[in-house]
Amino acid sequence: MCGIVGYVGSRSVSEFLLEGLHRLEYRGYDSAGIAVISDGEISVRKKAGRVMELARLVEEQPLFGNIGIGHTRWATHGETTDANSHPHLGGNGEVVIVHNGVIENHDSLRNQLIALGYVFHSQTDTEVAAHLMAHHLSEQLKLNSDEPCVDTCLRAVNLTLDRLKGTYGICVMFRDCPDTIIAARSGSPLVIGVGKNEYFLASDSSPLIGCTQDVVYLADNEVVVLNATGMKIAHRTTGRVQPSIQTLDQVSADIDLGNYPHYMLKEIFEQPTSVENAMRGRLDEGEATAVIGGLNLTAQQLRTFDRVVLTACGTSWHAGLVGEYLLEEFARLPTEVEYASELRYRNPPISDRTLVFSITQSGETADTLAAMRECQRKGHPTLSICNVVGSTIAREADGGIYLHAGPEIGVASTKAFTSQVTVLSLLALYLGRMRHLSYPAGKRIIKQLREMPEKIEEALKCHERVQEISEKYAHFNNFLYLGRLYNFPVALEGALKLKEISYIHAEGYPAAEMKHGPIALVDEQTPSVFIVPKGGIQPKVISNMEEVKARRGPVIALACEGDKEVERIADDVIIVPDVEEYLQPLVCAIPLQLLSYHIALLRGCNVDRPRNLAKSVTVE
Ligand code: GLU
Repeated sequence: MCGIVGYVGSRSVSEFLLEGLHRLEYRGYDSAGIAVISDGEISVRKKAGRVMELARLVEEQPLFGNIGIGHTRWATHGETTDANSHPHLGGNGEVVIVHNGVIENHDSLRNQLIALGYVFHSQTDTEVAAHLMAHHLSEQLKLNSDEPCVDTCLRAVNLTLDRLKGTYGICVMFRDCPDTIIAARSGSPLVIGVGKNEYFLASDSSPLIGCTQDVVYLADNEVVVLNATGMKIAHRTTGRVQPSIQTLDQVSADIDLGNYPHYMLKEIFEQPTSVENAMRGRLDEGEATAVIGGLNLTAQQLRTFDRVVLTACGTSWHAGLVGEYLLEEFARLPTEVEYASELRYRNPPISDRTLVFSITQSGETADTLAAMRECQRKGHPTLSICNVVGSTIAREADGGIYLHAGPEIGVASTKAFTSQVTVLSLLALYLGRMRHLSYPAGKRIIKQLREMPEKIEEALKCHERVQEISEKYAHFNNFLYLGRLYNFPVALEGALKLKEISYIHAEGYPAAEMKHGPIALVDEQTPSVFIVPKGGIQPKVISNMEEVKARRGPVIALACEGDKEVERIADDVIIVPDVEEYLQPLVCAIPLQLLSYHIALLRGCNVDRPRNLAKSVTVE
């Protein structure tokens, strides 16, 4: 969601900014812009729409210089218009800023600034910060006219930040201090790339790949002052900090499309590998358990917990639901899955024997981060299951497990889901083997886990069949997704995928619950997707399928090969490999991802950048 880039050094800045914004596109956005300082003037180019359109504008009206900032906006305050796009100028063009996040007290600040004579050109909360910055600058210049310009600017930034309520990742340039960028964060990520006589800034590391390997992650309440020869980071309340330079280990190939037309398809097909990577080095045959290094809790400590809370949003929440079933089955640990956006404001009883896990692909999801901090504030050990190394949640958690899925660029999460489910199975095995799970049971689970990359490969063979089925069903406007037990979260996830990228109304339900409401929706125009592979409860789900057919509802079924009964009832069958019930989500998710992908394509939707959605949801 919303991206920031910045650069100071000797490169031609527009190129870096545009390429950086392009790499941030996957996060989801609706407008883009850049600002460059040259010849003592700040120049801005900005546009609602794609980075490509901004690049066209910059081609027509080029910007030359060696220092600049850029932004992709995901509108929170004010429509998607050129005027509302960032960067925003403050005062009479003496300050320019880009901002990620939300300034909650923008209304009262705006009124105060209007009373002081500032003129607003946009409806955004961000422009308030720009004018406030200009206001404090002019005050400070009056008070300290002979100190170095950069000190005055930094004070203006700090005074402004003191007055902002809400969240920000913010980058500022000052017309009269033309070699400096000042950036700060509170709740929205920023990473600094350290080069030789050059510095890069971005809201995540993707724009830095190929530019530098040395990065510093800014922490909340830190401010950085950058110019071509140096970087100074200070904590806003405690003073100077010693930056810790870390190495970026991503390679550009990870974010190349290869021969795939879309990131989503590429990432769907990466799942045999990403699931394997999630397990790599984590299976211990000898002890029939999983090896999970990063929890920072001893086996004795882990044994003292008698409850687990998993908190997450969106797809990660669905993975959490699978996790609940796994943890309760393998480890007999009562588990609850909480929407992070609810948990952060609720006050549920969480005893000191409860282990809290935040599940997140990006590690930046604002609600998940806030829920985690709330739990930490109450003294609970809080761990994370996260993909992006070095992300805020990964850093602030007391310990955790990385997915090692590689960058997920497609906005609709695919491989992160299966990696999360894999990691949750490992966790359940690990905690299970500390408790009730026997050695032979652990051995059996390990054997089945090892087979999963191959089974996922097999599941991907349905691609052509799913393509055919998509053509038949793409014109429907309502879908039901139905499954039971481990496949209930899969039904939710399948419905979410369809909504996200095809803009089709879809509901996921536990198949048996259908008769308590959704069955009223069933008619010839409402297809139901049943997830009905082999398993103890399959006959019950087959009865639910009959109920839908009896009401003339079209049925697509995910079933194992040769399942005559399902073939007889369903209009269309997609074959999924036969795996143990608790691992079915890993294979059943695949055809559903492909189904949403192909239906979206047939309906002319932009699968990698669906409207209104953002990859990493960094606002509340
Ligand atoms: N709240 C700001 C706006 O609506 C920033 C949104 C963003 O993070 O992109 O312009």
